[in-house]
Amino acid sequence: LRKPKIVVLGAGYGGLMAVTRLQKMIGVNEADLTLVNKNDYHYETTWLHEASAGTLHHDKARYQVKDVIDNSRVKFVKETVVSIKKDEKKIVLANGELEYDYLVISLGSHPETFGIKGLKEYAFGITNINAARQLREHIEYQFATYNTEEVKRDQRLAIVVGGAGFTGIEFLGELANRVPELCREYDVDHKKVRIICVEAAPTALPGFDPELVEYAVNHLERKGVEFKIGTAIKECVEDGIIVAKDDVMEEIKADTVVWAAGVRGNSIVEEAGFENMRGRVKVDSYLRAPNHEDVFIIGDCSLVINEEINRPYPPTAQIAMQQGITAAKNIAVAVRDQGEMEEFKPDIKGTVASLGEDDAVGMVFGKKVMGTKASFMKKMIDNRALLMVGGAGLVVKKGKFKFF
Ligand code: FAD
Ligand code: NAD
Repeated sequence: LRKPKIVVLGAGYGGLMAVTRLQKMIGVNEADLTLVNKNDYHYETTWLHEASAGTLHHDKARYQVKDVIDNSRVKFVKETVVSIKKDEKKIVLANGELEYDYLVISLGSHPETFGIKGLKEYAFGITNINAARQLREHIEYQFATYNTEEVKRDQRLAIVVGGAGFTGIEFLGELANRVPELCREYDVDHKKVRIICVEAAPTALPGFDPELVEYAVNHLERKGVEFKIGTAIKECVEDGIIVAKDDVMEEIKADTVVWAAGVRGNSIVEEAGFENMRGRVKVDSYLRAPNHEDVFIIGDCSLVINEEINRPYPPTAQIAMQQGITAAKNIAVAVRDQGEMEEFKPDIKGTVASLGEDDAVGMVFGKKVMGTKASFMKKMIDNRALLMVGGAGLVVKKGKFKFF
């Protein structure tokens, strides 16, 4: 008898959670299990702002996929997914093809550039290990070069961050801590450095608790970050950006521009022809794509509506991991053709945004937290994610234990 083939695309939060659950739930004789990922490592997307600023070495933010999967149970394929042929139930890889009976798509997100000119060419993103390493090196290079030039170019030391959402704010927190170190290392006067955050909405962290927003903004301003609120980036050019506030245009000269102004689902999902909104597929309550009951879509490629406010849940690792668990259970039901599938109900425990190594703001179980207490919680959340995927051994290897 032919065994069904389960293929999971992407070893991020959603994909790894699904695979590590499936390998325990599904017997060897029940189905073949394959995991496809671009790299032989998993990276903690939620730690990339640290690797990008250079406050955490990128090796701390990644681990080998083979260390957390059961290699006797799961066939790991290190490959880049090129496209999904859903009607033929095939995956096209950079080198080869795969067939599936059940598919989990967990390929994460791509930056949302809203078609803004010049971003793709000139701006950096906080998107993966390669991008983080490149951004860290680029910033350090500007400091290293500043004093070698006869005519000092102050724009070399200007860093623009587009977007004051959680990614932008967390990156600013790390950068504000990294800059004094770079100034010392390269004999640069701190006063020459500018960190400018440009946010289109009328506030930083739109939608977040106003008291926590004020705490975060004050904290970052004290460390030298300038906020341009209600100001939209209109264009990115080779040596800076063009912004607009109330129809007044301004050019800001900067040799480093970081685009952290939102994400959309991986473009592979769109290209596969699934009905989508900004690359995210509105899945049914069992996490299946519409009209494709064999395809489960989780994490940043999926869209789940929060019925209370009739708006999509923001794409988070918290949700991706919970979806991974539900998708695994539902695939087990489908493979066996017995039992009831589980409806996906997100259990949102809260949101904590770090402001550097020892400060943070958050809402946890409906309560506001700030300062070192919030920072401690943030590290516990990071450690918990490691625990859920790789057990205590992974926490010991990669966990965050420097609390104060
Ligand atoms: P990911 O975890 O991003 O994984 C996608 C995987 O797919 C990656 O391993 C990638 O290599 C692989 N992949 C992509 N394309 C291909 C391809 N073509 N072929 C093969 N493999 C491919 N959320 C929170 O809940 N809490 C936080 O504190 C938090 N902090 C964040 C901080 C930052 C700086 C950022 C950028 C995001 C943060 N988020 C946070 C959001 C969170 O990281 C995402 O929602 C989460 O990573 C989504 O999980 P995923 O499994 O969909 O994708
Ligand atoms: P986001 O969409 O949450 O924020 C993007 C910000 O950029 C918004 O405030 C938006 O107004 C602004 N913006 C958009 N266009 C702009 C323009 N042209 N000029 C200036 N500003 C512009 O995106 P994000 O911060 O990348 O977060 C992505 C997802 O990851 C979210 O779901 C977020 O909740 C999650 N995340 C969570 C955490 C955490 O929980 N600690 C940390 C990072 C990210």
